[in-house]
Amino acid sequence: MQKFDILIVGGGMVGLTLALSIRKQTTLTVAIVDTNPIAELSNEPEVRVSAINSASKQIFDNLDVWSLISEQRLQPYQHMHIWDKAGYGKIDFDLAQVQQSIATEQLGFIIENNVIRNALWQQAQNDQGIRFFTQELLTNIAVGDSEVFASFTQQAPIMAKLLVGADGANSWVRKQLDMPMTFRDYDHHALVATVKCPQGHQNTAWQVFLPTGPLALLPLFEDDLCSIVWSTSPQEAERLSALPAEQFAKELTAASDGKLGNVELVSERFTFPLTMRFAQDFVKERVALVGDAAHTIHPLAGQGVNLGLLDAAALAQVIADKVSEQSLSQDGNLAWASSKNLNHYNRWRKSEASEMIAAMESIKQLFTPQSAAPKILRGIGMSVLNKLTPAKNILIKQALGYKGQLPELAKQPLD
Ligand SMILES: Cc1cc2nc3c(=O)[nH]c(=O)nc-3n(C[C@H](O)[C@H](O)[C@H](O)COP(=O)(O)OP(=O)(O)OC[C@H]3O[C@@H](n4cnc5c(N)ncnc54)[C@H](O)[C@@H]3O)c2cc1C
Repeated sequence: MQKFDILIVGGGMVGLTLALSIRKQTTLTVAIVDTNPIAELSNEPEVRVSAINSASKQIFDNLDVWSLISEQRLQPYQHMHIWDKAGYGKIDFDLAQVQQSIATEQLGFIIENNVIRNALWQQAQNDQGIRFFTQELLTNIAVGDSEVFASFTQQAPIMAKLLVGADGANSWVRKQLDMPMTFRDYDHHALVATVKCPQGHQNTAWQVFLPTGPLALLPLFEDDLCSIVWSTSPQEAERLSALPAEQFAKELTAASDGKLGNVELVSERFTFPLTMRFAQDFVKERVALVGDAAHTIHPLAGQGVNLGLLDAAALAQVIADKVSEQSLSQDGNLAWASSKNLNHYNRWRKSEASEMIAAMESIKQLFTPQSAAPKILRGIGMSVLNKLTPAKNILIKQALGYKGQLPELAKQPLD
């Protein structure tokens, strides 16, 4: 039997952030199980990227991971240009405009997922209190009164006081524990690829709402490269994926109104079905869910992993607060892993996730094909909003991640 305080199943961006957040604030020991090793970066950009907001950057900074990320590659952006193909409305967000009310140097960063994961993994490997299990997956979980037992086929089983499912949208942990989940098909598939833009990305995140769904062109670390996320019906995604590269580029140029010039496809295309998932509870007995294991949302606002990183920081904080209370009172009864303590995490993060799910739903509904009158109103609404600096500042604050109850790691540098 191998004993740890916390066992994390899944070493993706969220699971690794949780491990480091726990170690930053406690001396608890952590085991991570994941058989998907980190991948060496090639010179070509990865097609899976994330828009990382200021709150997430602050978490990485506090975990001493931001410097490892920025040593590799990332692209900050200072502008956002959003427009409506059908209704003629548009909104521009500009850093200079919002800086008077919010102290920030960027509106966000586009970072390849593997750049983030590599940096987190490297940092976790340097921590004596974190041990990786990468040879095989777990086969069974048994939850006892004060411990969780997890077994492999070949290696000795692991015993921990808390088990965390950070194993993504199709979470094995969630299924093993029979944790019920609400889900809804967005009836969209996201097509992702890298494209070359002759007019350059201009440090701008571009997003057009087409009648079939949103298309984002996100700036990459080379001035003329963008990562696209094109959300559309499953049939249209299949058609776009099968087009010859030149024809695809023509349709993409037309869809983006040629705002970045005649774009050229420079990578393979991949598609992902988009589903809203929301676990009814993020905690059951001595088991907690974080990140995509707990919730998945539409990528139209680039908030999925940002939400998951806040789960990780929040769960670590709830645990650390309880651990320090116990050390003050000399009470060694391990109540930090009790469901009563974890319920605070459950209520906190469920409420933030449900708000985000509702917000994604409203935006998606607003732009679904509709009759002429609402389309005109939507265009007028966007144009009016575009001129209202205070309202835009509220939206920007939300996009930066400064909303709701933030965990300490997302707020300010820790000592
Ligand atoms: C097209 C698209 C674009 C997106 N763009 C953005 C964006 O711009 N900004 C943003 O914030 N979010 C974005 N997201 C969402 C974001 O990608 C996810 O929220 C994020 O990857 C979730 O991270 P995670 O660590 O929770 O899960 P994952 O990234 O899925 O990681 C799960 C880990 O668990 C491991 N695992 C799986 N099963 C097991 C098991 N049985 N045992 C052990 N390990 C296991 C896997 O190997 C993996 O390493 C986007 C999503 C999509 C689909």
